[in-house]
Amino acid sequence: MEKTQCPKTPPKTKCATDLNQKQLFTPMRLVIFGPPGAGKGTYSKLISERYNIPHIATGDMIREEIHKGTELGTSMKKFVEGGGLVPDEIVIEILRRRISAPDCKNGFILDGFPRTTAQAKALEKIADVDLVINLTVPEDVIIRRLSSRRVCRNCGAIYNLISMPPSRPGVCDKCGGELYQREDDKPEVIRRRLKEYETQTKPLVEYYGKKSIIRDVALVKEEKVEEVIKRVYDIIESVKLK
Ligand code: ADP
Ligand code: ZN
Repeated sequence: MEKTQCPKTPPKTKCATDLNQKQLFTPMRLVIFGPPGAGKGTYSKLISERYNIPHIATGDMIREEIHKGTELGTSMKKFVEGGGLVPDEIVIEILRRRISAPDCKNGFILDGFPRTTAQAKALEKIADVDLVINLTVPEDVIIRRLSSRRVCRNCGAIYNLISMPPSRPGVCDKCGGELYQREDDKPEVIRRRLKEYETQTKPLVEYYGKKSIIRDVALVKEEKVEEVIKRVYDIIESVKLK
């Protein structure tokens, strides 16, 4: 796709200006999909900044609620820490409220939702989805990554002790906050989460496949984020320019 030169008669090839206009004014409703540890959070944040759309991560919202110690948070804690899924009714309600906020009118990127067929059906009634990006990762890579993941308690930035370590151990480069290991990133819980993914969430690949809006991005062993994200942007832009 030619993006730098703008032809005089541009019926098929779009120039950079067209691209920006489109990105500014066409709603872009994305879902990022993939097993735990695929890097959904990392890629979603980059996509959210580039296209100026809110990053909606149900896992982050749930953890925040638990951290605040609200009644809702307390009711979800046992599911999350055991590596299970939070009941559909609760997550769907959380998502519905978030998506009706004004900042979502030009699009959004959903990370961690939908995770079950019931959630996908509920989402259909709430909003359209233009594209589902399906990250696929070999299982050994997933387990290694999750157990070396650390998260900033203050700003949510994600680190990896092997591939993306912070400059000072235990301290966030961006805000100086404390880094911690999520309760559900401990080995016994990781296995349960992967099982939940296989049985509850993976069937959605076929569900969105039937609607022809899903595109695979295969993560090859230890490929750098900067390389993978380029492929993701290409897919998003090819869909926006159709
Ligand atoms: P990951 O994708 O790395 O497993 P998330 O941060 O997306 O992590 O989710 C963490 C946990 O939050 C899940 O294991 C689950 O308990 C809960 N959760 C997040 N999103 C959903 C959802 N859509 N439905 C049910 N539970 C969810
Ligand atoms: Zn931080």
